[in-house]
Amino acid sequence: MKNIITDITPAQAVSMQADGAMLIDVREPDEHALGLPRNALAIPRARLEQDPTAYIPNYDHKVLLICGSGMRSMLAAEKLAALGYSNLFNVLGGFQRWSTEQLPREDNNLDQDFTERYARHLRLPQVGIAGQKKLEQAHIVLIGAGGLGSPAAYYLAAAGVGNITIIDNDLVDKSNLQRQILHTEASIGSPKVDSAAASMHALNPRIKIRTQQARLDTDNVRSIIADADVVIDGSDNFPTRYLLNDACVELAKPLVYAAVQRFSGQMSVFDAGRQRGSAPCYRCLFPEAPNGEDAPNCAEAGVLGVLPGVMGLLQATEAIKIILGIGQTLSGRLLQFDALSMRFSELRIPVDEECPCCGISNH
Ligand SMILES: [Zn+2]
Repeated sequence: MKNIITDITPAQAVSMQADGAMLIDVREPDEHALGLPRNALAIPRARLEQDPTAYIPNYDHKVLLICGSGMRSMLAAEKLAALGYSNLFNVLGGFQRWSTEQLPREDNNLDQDFTERYARHLRLPQVGIAGQKKLEQAHIVLIGAGGLGSPAAYYLAAAGVGNITIIDNDLVDKSNLQRQILHTEASIGSPKVDSAAASMHALNPRIKIRTQQARLDTDNVRSIIADADVVIDGSDNFPTRYLLNDACVELAKPLVYAAVQRFSGQMSVFDAGRQRGSAPCYRCLFPEAPNGEDAPNCAEAGVLGVLPGVMGLLQATEAIKIILGIGQTLSGRLLQFDALSMRFSELRIPVDEECPCCGISNH
């Protein structure tokens, strides 16, 4: 058993971390509170030994264990080896030596709430501690706390997006409850932004929620999105979509768009503001609003209650990817969803050089 546990120095641990190894600090919470090696997972030894698969994705994943001086981490490594983990390293001298050698430490200590709450994210190499901190520092602005905004906001709160602003002018109506899952029977008649904030805080008290009970208009749109990292369009009318699109292009904000009607939905990411000339905007897709008969809203046409749930969660997914900088976004593609046939399809959205908003000829 011994020969599958390798002793390493703290400095070696730092370079192995850079190559993707997972560093776990098995000391107790009160010790963690006094400081941690940078990007270490703080998991007390008893908790780790009780349920290691909750924290370590694969039995052959490279795992570096550290404690105060190197004793407890060695015992933890032996336990993990007995459980079948095969790629284990013990940091000699522990956090004492780490500190003496002035190796990088956490500025903001990861508290136990962070480690437990986001445990499933921390297991993903594409997210990890660095990604989860990005989410925690990010600011997403949601236009609308209705059918699309509700599921999007709920999951963004759960995912740990640290700053969320919601703007909505409406009060909760009984007919909303069939799909707007942030609101409950008890919140009928109260502002949607209040009901939304209460539900999100109940789910994740770590995050900051700013609300504005207002309608988006030309006077407030720029200040509302000014310090957003991502903007999510959960509105249900064309004037708001154009207003938001134009402001996002002007202020270089990625815009995650979706719309639903009856049994179908569509969505895209419009990133023309940051990628002028190579990514389209909403007006490249729809230069003009269709007239009312061609484009009834949900109140007029009806909508299957689960549909905005599907599309809103896809919006949240794109927003999270943009913040983490992972994968490919829907920029330049229109995703269409038909619930009745259960089919997703995709259209390419070319950049319109004559676009009245982002067209090169306008600048
Ligand atoms: Zn455009």
